[in-house]
Amino acid sequence: MVYELYQTLRAHYGDLHWWPAKTPYEVIVGAVLTQNTAWSNVEKAIANFGGELSPEYILNADMPELTDIIRPAGFFNQKAVYLKAVTAWFAGYGFDAAAVRREPPDKVRAELLSVKGVGKETADSTLLYAFNFPVFVVDAYTIRLCGRVPISAGNGYDAVKAYFEANLPHSEEVYNNFHALIVINAKEHCRKRKPLCGGCPLNERCGKRL
Ligand code: SF4
Repeated sequence: MVYELYQTLRAHYGDLHWWPAKTPYEVIVGAVLTQNTAWSNVEKAIANFGGELSPEYILNADMPELTDIIRPAGFFNQKAVYLKAVTAWFAGYGFDAAAVRREPPDKVRAELLSVKGVGKETADSTLLYAFNFPVFVVDAYTIRLCGRVPISAGNGYDAVKAYFEANLPHSEEVYNNFHALIVINAKEHCRKRKPLCGGCPLNERCGKRL
C-alpha cells in the first residue's frame, strides 16, 4: 500500500534528490533551523552566513553574532544554542561525514537524540539527508497524509516511522525521495485547510478526496 503510494507520487513528481544543501554539515544546520518555521526562512538564514557556513565558524562565533545571522529562522536564541550543541557533537567525528557513516545508525541516532535541541524529526532528517542512513523521516506532512488516505500507521512518531520502514524497501534512496514527495504533495495539493484534490496524484486512492 505505502509503496504503491510512493510509486504513484514518484511517477508524478519524479526523483527530487533532497536535501537542498551543499554539504552534510549544511543539512545538519538546516535540520535545526527548519524547526517550527518555513524553509524559505531557513534559506534566508543560511544566506546570511555569506558563504562562511562551516562547523568551525559556528563553534567560534559568539552568540550575538550567531543569533543575528540566523534571526530569519525564528527562535534564534534557542537555535543558536542548538547549532553549537550539534556542531560540538559533529566535532567528535572530526567534522568528517564519512566517519559518521561508518557507525551503526542506531548508535548515531542515540547520540543525536542526546544533543540539546535535537528531537526525533531533526535526528532522522540528519541521519537520512546528511549521512545517507536508511531511516524514514516522519513529519506533520506524513501524519496528515496518513490521516487522509488513510494509512493505518499507528499513533506517534515511532509507530509511524516503524510502519513506513516495515512496508517499504529498506532503501535510503526510497526513504529520501518518499519524504520529499510527501512534502511537495502536501504543499501543492494536500494542504492543511482546503486540500486541492483535483490534480492530486493520490486522488484515486484517497478516502478523503474532496
Ligand atoms: S486527494 Fe486530497 S486529501 Fe487525498 S492526498 Fe490528495 S490532496 Fe490530500
